[in-house]
Amino acid sequence: MLEGVALPLQPLRLPWLKAAGVEVAVLRLDLIDPLVSGNKWFKLRPWLELARQQGAPGLMSLGGPWSNHLHALAAAGYSEGFATVGLLRGEPQRTATTDDLQAMGMALHWLGYGGYRARHQPGFWAPWMAQFPGFLAIPEGGACEQGMRGCMALLELVEPGLAALGWNSFDAWWLAAGTGTTVAGLAQAEAGHRLVHGALAVPAGQGAEANVSKLVPLARVQWHDASRGGFGKVDAELIDFLKATEAHTGLPLEPLYTAKALLALQACVLAGGVAPGTRLVFVHTGGLQGRRGFPSL
Ligand SMILES: *Cc1c(COP(=O)(O)O)cnc(C)c1O
Repeated sequence: MLEGVALPLQPLRLPWLKAAGVEVAVLRLDLIDPLVSGNKWFKLRPWLELARQQGAPGLMSLGGPWSNHLHALAAAGYSEGFATVGLLRGEPQRTATTDDLQAMGMALHWLGYGGYRARHQPGFWAPWMAQFPGFLAIPEGGACEQGMRGCMALLELVEPGLAALGWNSFDAWWLAAGTGTTVAGLAQAEAGHRLVHGALAVPAGQGAEANVSKLVPLARVQWHDASRGGFGKVDAELIDFLKATEAHTGLPLEPLYTAKALLALQACVLAGGVAPGTRLVFVHTGGLQGRRGFPSL
């Protein structure tokens, strides 16, 4: 299913990495597809295959008004010929993301906050299934076994880029985690070989760790708190770091996941937590469309 896909693996040159003797290469999932960006592309692959197999008319899922997940779903549906339905958190509003969702043909339904909180209750999907018969319902954020399986492909995709860097191998992965599904896919594919560092964009204990343990009981994962006090919390140090890193490397970042994950790596490196000579692959999980929600960037 991934034939012909080549993902750039680019060296990340930053003074604090150099000073610590740590080498980092960035796997640019943000460049995978012009419309479907980042790790969400991988999480959605098995769902799109299933939809094709079942002859499903479309897919539906839920998220917030800046959701990367819904954006990727709408884009995948648009380019692959499936109808899509987005169930949104909060009251009706217009954002750059919801404009895109509509432009890509996604039908939007606003659930309010209370309605959205009910999403884990057993009867939640029944009325939507009745309204959209045959549609596949994807859990929030693509957090599920299918999403995990889709992310296992990242291990194979990194291989071709290593030689060009002059690396015969590398020591560990480093990436942002929300639901932890991408971390789980890598841990499953690695089967205990390389360590996967999960930089938590949500506070510890809010589900990512438990999700990974459930999906991949023997996962070799090390968690780092990258949340800076909460999902969506953005502070001046983070913004300064994002801007400085972009200016230095040309690598585009967004504040909620990728910049937080990289800042957590910096903290770990500066604290002496990464041995000199270590080679890491940092997964750029995409999400750049969500950056439009931060007018100061
Ligand atoms: C959704 C998302 C994540 C989190 O992925 P999980 O598999 O839920 O851990 C990380 N980075 C970006 C940019 C995202 O959009």
